[in-house]
Amino acid sequence: MAPVLKPRPGVLDIEAYVPGESRVPGGVKPIKLSSNETPLGPSPKAVQAFTAAGVALERYPDGQASLLRQAIARRYGLNPDRIVCGAGSDELISLIAHAYLGPGDEGLFTEHGFLLYRIVVLAAGATPVVAPETNLKADVDAILARVTPRTRIVFLANPNNPTGTYLGIDEVRRLRANLPDDVLLLLDAAYAEYVRRNDYEAGLELVATTENTVMTRTFSKIFGLAGLRIGWAYCPAAVADALNRIRGPFNLSAPSIAAGAAAMDDVAHIEAAVRHNDEWLPWLTTEIGKLGLAVTPSVANFVLVHFPVEPGRDAAAADAFLKERGIILRRVAGYGLPGALRLTIGTEDENRKVLAALGAFVGARA
Ligand SMILES: *Cc1c(COP(=O)(O)O)cnc(C)c1O
Repeated sequence: MAPVLKPRPGVLDIEAYVPGESRVPGGVKPIKLSSNETPLGPSPKAVQAFTAAGVALERYPDGQASLLRQAIARRYGLNPDRIVCGAGSDELISLIAHAYLGPGDEGLFTEHGFLLYRIVVLAAGATPVVAPETNLKADVDAILARVTPRTRIVFLANPNNPTGTYLGIDEVRRLRANLPDDVLLLLDAAYAEYVRRNDYEAGLELVATTENTVMTRTFSKIFGLAGLRIGWAYCPAAVADALNRIRGPFNLSAPSIAAGAAAMDDVAHIEAAVRHNDEWLPWLTTEIGKLGLAVTPSVANFVLVHFPVEPGRDAAAADAFLKERGIILRRVAGYGLPGALRLTIGTEDENRKVLAALGAFVGARA
C-alpha cells in the first residue's frame, strides 16, 4: 500500500475550539455577550500606541517584547526575566503543553475546565485526564486522586470559565503542596483582575516560591485587547527558559507589544472596568435569579445561567429566543453543561436588554 500522510496520533481526536458566535440572522448589529469581552473597550492610550506602531510595519518586532515585559514587571513588582509573552495566553498554554507533555504523559484538568486544555494535551500527543468537580467548582482532592506517575501538567483555570467559580489561595497552595515536584501546575488566571475576594490570589507568590508553578494572564479580557492576541506567563526560571526556546522568535507583533504596554500602564481604565463589573455582576445575578433561573455565583465578568430541562424552556430554546432578538450568549454544551448559557457582563444598556429578553422568554413559557 502506498504510504498515506497522517498527523501525529491524537491530532484527529481534537474537536476544534468553537469561538463564541458573533452574528445573528437579519444582519443587525447584535448584542454580543458570548466571549467575555469587556464592555468598556480598550484603554484609549492602548489604541493610540497601536496606531503609532503602525508606521514601521516593515520592521520586525522586538523578539523579547521588552517594553511589554517591563510594563508588566513594573505593575506587579516582578522579575521581567521570568515573564514570557505570547500571542494570547492560548499560545502560552499551548507552548507549555508542548514543552512538558508527550506521548504516554497525562495532562489533568477539571470536568468543566476551559476547553483549550483538552486540545493542547491531545495536540502534544499526550492523554487528557478529567477530574470531577463539586458543585461546578474544582475539587482539590478529586484532582489529587487522579494524579498518576504519568501526570506532567495540572491545568487549573482560576476563576474557571465557563462556571465563574474559583478556589481560594489556601486550596491552591494545598493542591501545589500535594502534587509531585515533577508535575507542573498551570494556573490560568485570565479573569484575575475581576476577582474581589479576600481569599483569592492569582498565584504570583506560588510561582516565585516553587520551581513548578506557572501563572498565565491575558490582555483579552479586562484589558479589552482580544483582537490583538496578547498574553503573558510568569514562570520559574527553568520554565521561562524552555518556553523561550520553543516559542516563535517574533511571536508578538510590534503593535501588540506597544498597545499591551500602554494598556498595562493605564491603571485608571482597569479600575473603571472593575467598578463596572462590581456593579453589574451582582445586579444580573440577582435579577436573573428573580426570574426563577439558577445562576452560578461568579467572581468573573460572566455568569452561568441554568435553564429547566424541558423542551421549549431549555437552554437551546432560550438561545434561539435571544438570538431572534439580536442577543448572543454562549452555549456551553461542549463543557458538559447542556442546560446552561454563559452570559458576559455588558454595558448597562446591554445588561438591561438581556434581562428583559430573559424575562420575556421565561414569561412566554410560564
Ligand atoms: C479567555 C480565556 C483565556 C484567554 O485567552 P487569550 O488567548 O489570552 O485570548 C485563557 N483562559 C481562559 C480560561 C479564558 O477564558
